[in-house]
Amino acid sequence: MRLPVALLAATFLASQASAQSVDVAALRDAALKDEMAWDITEGLTTEVGQRLAGTEAEARARTWAIAKLKAMGFSNPRIEPFDMPVWVRGEETAEIVAPFPQKLVLAALGNSGATPAEGITAEIIGFSSLSELEATDSAKVRGKIVFVDHAMGTTQDGSSYGAFGGARRKGPSIASKKGALAIVIRSIGTDFHRNPHTGVQQWSDGATPIPAAALTLPDAEQLKRILARGKPVRMKLVLTPRNIGTRQSGNVMAEVPGRDPKAGIVLVGCHLDSWDLGTGAIDDAAGCGIVAAAAKRVMDAGKPLRTIRVVWFGAEEVGILGGAAYRDAHKGENHAVLAESDFGADRVYRFDTYVNQSAKPVVGRLAEVLAPIGIAKGNNEARGGSDIGPLAATGVPVIALRQDGTRYFDLHHTPDDTLDKVDRSQLAQNVAAWTAMIATVANVESELGPVGPPRDD
Ligand code: ZN
Ligand code: ZN
Repeated sequence: MRLPVALLAATFLASQASAQSVDVAALRDAALKDEMAWDITEGLTTEVGQRLAGTEAEARARTWAIAKLKAMGFSNPRIEPFDMPVWVRGEETAEIVAPFPQKLVLAALGNSGATPAEGITAEIIGFSSLSELEATDSAKVRGKIVFVDHAMGTTQDGSSYGAFGGARRKGPSIASKKGALAIVIRSIGTDFHRNPHTGVQQWSDGATPIPAAALTLPDAEQLKRILARGKPVRMKLVLTPRNIGTRQSGNVMAEVPGRDPKAGIVLVGCHLDSWDLGTGAIDDAAGCGIVAAAAKRVMDAGKPLRTIRVVWFGAEEVGILGGAAYRDAHKGENHAVLAESDFGADRVYRFDTYVNQSAKPVVGRLAEVLAPIGIAKGNNEARGGSDIGPLAATGVPVIALRQDGTRYFDLHHTPDDTLDKVDRSQLAQNVAAWTAMIATVANVESELGPVGPPRDD
């Protein structure tokens, strides 16, 4: 759609005028001293701890969240519950029994099948990549424990997760369909500590669940060296996770009501659940702290034009169930724009958008208010975070404040995802970025859409 120049100019002037009622730069700079995001991150990780989706711990997190959002002064804090199947971790040990007996460190992947309590012992067959496993005859794999290696490296934007994460997401189903007894992968991570990286995988159609786990990077390297000696390698594996049936999860949400209900909703989200190995400080307590602290700062500056809705999604880690439940319940509402913080707590270095060309003046305004805190303008291909993905896929504008992911996959889904990894000054820079972004988009009169569903081309 192309707007006549005169109309564009009028829209721009209108947006300038309303934006001027809020001093965005002053709000941003005050947020550089923010302590609310830290307070939320510290409180949630200390008073609740790990928050595996569908468990009583995640339920306690929802209770905690309601009390916190209420205390911060948000309107109508509430839980929207939904049911989900729940998988819980059991015992998990591995050892090489021949030719060089020794223990290895691993953790089961989400939805892993179980071994008998006494474990299984079988020969290992190693693959340097997922595609090598895919190309191998079932006859060579049948009855063995598959090991899949990969070459994930560190990337600032986290793109290596997409490129190499298939070993976790698809490896178990591929191994199962080829008749493997079990699969162990090199953790999808970038640190050389003996911390396994768990994460979800789903059994694809026709794949029988088998035991599936991630070795730490040092253990994967050790196994590679053992295999390279050329002798048959046998592993004993004990993994006893269980499916405990249907339980409740839920999305927690609250609002800053806007002056004009017809102006649409600015949704800012994160996910409340975490994996069970650490306390989910960077994934994603910090994200919840960032978006709530920023929304509170905008609220305290006066009633915005648009309604700001804070959503702390449930059950993200196990398959984006909260994001799907939110889309199903709210897709009929007018969402002006969606944004999510779910990539740790390190500084924002770039922002991407997914908006109509007619919203260029708003993007320009964002570039102006974000540049002073070191944030560059990126592209117009934002996909958002995972929880907002299902709604974004229906064609809703997205703004992505991209965080520096250089350290993220050292910690992601490991026992080491704990509060001490959060850098307080970088956390505050996030709050400043989010405050400036929310104050801008919640107060411009011009629309950010329409947009079609995002395309991957
Ligand atoms: Zn996350
Ligand atoms: Zn995660």
